[in-house]
Amino acid sequence: MSRFLSKNYEKLVPYTPGEQVNVKVIKLNTNESPFPPSPKVKEVLSEEVIDKLNLYSDPELKELRSAIAEQFGVTHDMVFCGNGSDDVLAFAIMGFCGAGGKLCCPDISYGFYPVYADIFGVELEQIPLKDDFSIDVNDYIGKNKNIVIANPNAPTGLALSFDEVEKIVSSNPDNLVIMDEAYMAFCGESCMELVKKYDNLLVTRTFSKSHSLAGLRVGFGIGSKDIIDDLNKLKYSFNPYNLNTLSIKAAAAAIADNEYYDDKIAQIVETREKTLADLRALGFKCTDSKANFIFASSDKIPASELASKLRENGILVRYFNKAKIDNYLRITVGSAEDMQTLVDCIKKITEA
Ligand SMILES: *Cc1c(COP(=O)(O)O)cnc(C)c1O
Repeated sequence: MSRFLSKNYEKLVPYTPGEQVNVKVIKLNTNESPFPPSPKVKEVLSEEVIDKLNLYSDPELKELRSAIAEQFGVTHDMVFCGNGSDDVLAFAIMGFCGAGGKLCCPDISYGFYPVYADIFGVELEQIPLKDDFSIDVNDYIGKNKNIVIANPNAPTGLALSFDEVEKIVSSNPDNLVIMDEAYMAFCGESCMELVKKYDNLLVTRTFSKSHSLAGLRVGFGIGSKDIIDDLNKLKYSFNPYNLNTLSIKAAAAAIADNEYYDDKIAQIVETREKTLADLRALGFKCTDSKANFIFASSDKIPASELASKLRENGILVRYFNKAKIDNYLRITVGSAEDMQTLVDCIKKITEA
């Protein structure tokens, strides 16, 4: 630490991203897609677009917001885009909960929520999950605090139903409810329709997982026009050009290519179900994941030990050294072939 860092940030504990590697490994640690992005993405990143990089990107993001709005049947003024959905979550938590505001989230969820709460001076309540890792909806009824929930939740993969989400949103009319749908494409029940009915709901999504574009850094939030106006006010006070021209073009092309992504997502879901069955047959306890990862635990071997043995075999998975989940691994669903290699490797390790 230099002697210049503000006192406010001295005690900040930053988010720890999953490891990125250059050597050839089977990478199942950060929930990326095993597939390349849609070919349409390559088509729009033309020389013509590159030659225009001398100009600033469009701060209004008209092209991308319209493409997203069309997909979800909303108007473009209900769409806010960020440099990854982390950016959207940061603006929302800063703007609606910051400087002494209140926020609650599940105690086991996306690791970034507590970090944002910390950096923006938000009082955070972390509500325990039930023993089976599910969220008890009753804990969030009439909460009188802002709420952020990942649905499906991470790293458990468990999802709330549409009706459960509506109960939470409708019982907290004077607080913002952020539903982080980073993994929704993989078979949960989206609450996106509710943004037309409730003005206290912000639904966030990302291109990183379902759209094979983690490296592009694009995410978005959909909510009432007033919420989006507020987010834009913050954005224009902080970083008006938060998306670059290449990202805008690429993401707009990707979101329109349903045919390509529906097929890839279906393959990932099929591989998830196959891998779940294989791991359960090996005696693993797995949650009923609705995401592109598996959350698994075995009585035969501690999770931390299994993670390091897999690593020795060139397979990376995510281990969280955290109470209640420290005997679980979060394993991204990769290609069918890579998952077979994983299962074979686990079999070898646990039967040795
Ligand atoms: C991956 C993830 C995000 C962030 O995704 P971006 O890459 O920043 O778009 C947000 N929420 C959850 C729950 C995630 O797992």
